Amino acid sequence: MTNPYDVIIIGAGIAGGMVARFLSKYELDILLIDKEVDVGMGTSSGNSAAIHAGYDALPGTNKALTNVIGVDMWPRLSQELGIQYERCGDYVVAVDKEDMLVLEELLERGAHNEVPNLEIISGEAMRRREPLLRPDAIGALWAPTGGIGDPFAATIAAAENAVMNGVDLKLDTAFKDFIMEGDRITGVRTSQGDFNCRWAVNAAGLYADEVMHKAGVRPEFNIRPRRGEYLILDKADFQLTNTTILFPTPSEKGKGILVASTLHGNVIVGPNANFVDSKENRDVSKEGIEEIWSGGKKLVPAINRKHIIAEFAGLRATGNAPTPNPEIDYNQDFIIEIPDKVHGLVNLGGIESPGFTAAPAIAIKVIELLESAGEVLTEKMDWNPVRPPRPVFRHLSREEQAALIAKDPAYGRIVCRCETVTEGEIRAEVHAPIPADTYDAIKRRTWLGTGRCQGGFDMPRVVSILAEELGIPEEEVTKKGKGSELLFRRTKDVEEDYLNMEDLL
Ligand SMILES: Cc1cc2nc3c(=O)[nH]c(=O)nc-3n(C[C@H](O)[C@H](O)[C@H](O)COP(=O)(O)OP(=O)(O)OC[C@H]3O[C@@H](n4cnc5c(N)ncnc54)[C@H](O)[C@@H]3O)c2cc1C
Repeated sequence: MTNPYDVIIIGAGIAGGMVARFLSKYELDILLIDKEVDVGMGTSSGNSAAIHAGYDALPGTNKALTNVIGVDMWPRLSQELGIQYERCGDYVVAVDKEDMLVLEELLERGAHNEVPNLEIISGEAMRRREPLLRPDAIGALWAPTGGIGDPFAATIAAAENAVMNGVDLKLDTAFKDFIMEGDRITGVRTSQGDFNCRWAVNAAGLYADEVMHKAGVRPEFNIRPRRGEYLILDKADFQLTNTTILFPTPSEKGKGILVASTLHGNVIVGPNANFVDSKENRDVSKEGIEEIWSGGKKLVPAINRKHIIAEFAGLRATGNAPTPNPEIDYNQDFIIEIPDKVHGLVNLGGIESPGFTAAPAIAIKVIELLESAGEVLTEKMDWNPVRPPRPVFRHLSREEQAALIAKDPAYGRIVCRCETVTEGEIRAEVHAPIPADTYDAIKRRTWLGTGRCQGGFDMPRVVSILAEELGIPEEEVTKKGKGSELLFRRTKDVEEDYLNMEDLL
């Protein structure tokens, strides 16, 4: 058993990453663990990337509170973490009288939640702002504080900033059980050994129910994965007029199938919302594609199937926690608590949408809970909230590109032609505070392989660069950890095998 940690955070998604980042401000020994080989491989890698304004969540819920505080935090946070974020605003589009009533309801809910500057605009005004919108739209709710983030970059940057500020990160380290003395948590059993701690933060996303059950907390709480499927359109072929998010009016299934811009310049269509049996089932189904395509077409008839370049799915951690406000007939809220029954646990559960938006506010709430439990938090003198961004070649001016190449010629060699990602960027990610050592880790950080060719051109080159930088044979380079090796064996060995077979015949 190692020296005790003050806090062990279970799960390095956006919630665990933000908790680690904000807690790293204090004189605490912190360990962040994740069962996967990289941070942010769970739900935080499969969502709409919307920074929701906060008119959707029901007043009085944790969702509403953390959503609205979260929105306010993103402008400064994105600056500090060196990540992209655009407060472009979003629209909920109405096509009939019933929809208009829903807009009124959302406007009122938004006012309760203190969402600023919400406004219902006419269909005509809406179409002026987005001419590609269906022609019969009769109005829209305009939310200027809605925005778009980059969940991949945000999760990585938050965890990186935590590591820069002294947090230990252990990947490929699965939580197995709590070590308890009576009703007090004193440590965590993992696939990589036992670690003592005074506090454990459950940020295990889809598996948060199983983690809290190990401490005997909320045995009635269960998470049912609710899958959302998406399609991505080629940015060279189709764009919305402005960077924005277009929602239909919400239904009992959620916020509905949106058509939106991404910060990488593509248009995204989705998600649907269907329960699935497995917490690992992120497959995209034929029926799902039909469902989201018809949903997208209803908003923007001009989208064309021939522009689809990728599909993916994410799983919402939909739980059955009752709302703290019994007046509201709504049975799913975020759990953010220190349970009475057990000492030493900060419990997060059911962090479905708007969990990406809310994550920084959830982290602040965790700090408040610790303080209210008597934890005296002393700020570090040398905490650094700034995580300097690494150069992104395609975002630089010609002069900046030339200067970078002069300093390091590897930035002059383009590896991904669709997204203009250079060898220098790939090598920099291997040596970052959280080293990227798989193909997908490089992809999540540099955005290579996400364009029209979907990795067809860059993958062999990335394999060689990774092998060289990591000092391993190319056959050991993986897509996303052990068991996902990209190369089976050398072609030469195959030829030799044929020769041997000939000898046998
Ligand atoms: C389809 C869809 C659309 C969405 N759209 C939006 C949106 O537009 N805006 C928004 O604000 N939110 C959105 N969300 C919600 C948002 O994505 C989630 O709320 C957020 O990503 C949850 O983050 P998390 O850290 O709680 O979970 P995760 O990202 O899943 O992180 C949990 C981590 O815990 C790890 N873990 C699990 N079990 C163990 C274990 N035993 N040991 C160690 N580690 C473990 C996992 O590997 C994972 O990395 C959407 C979600 C979905 C599915």
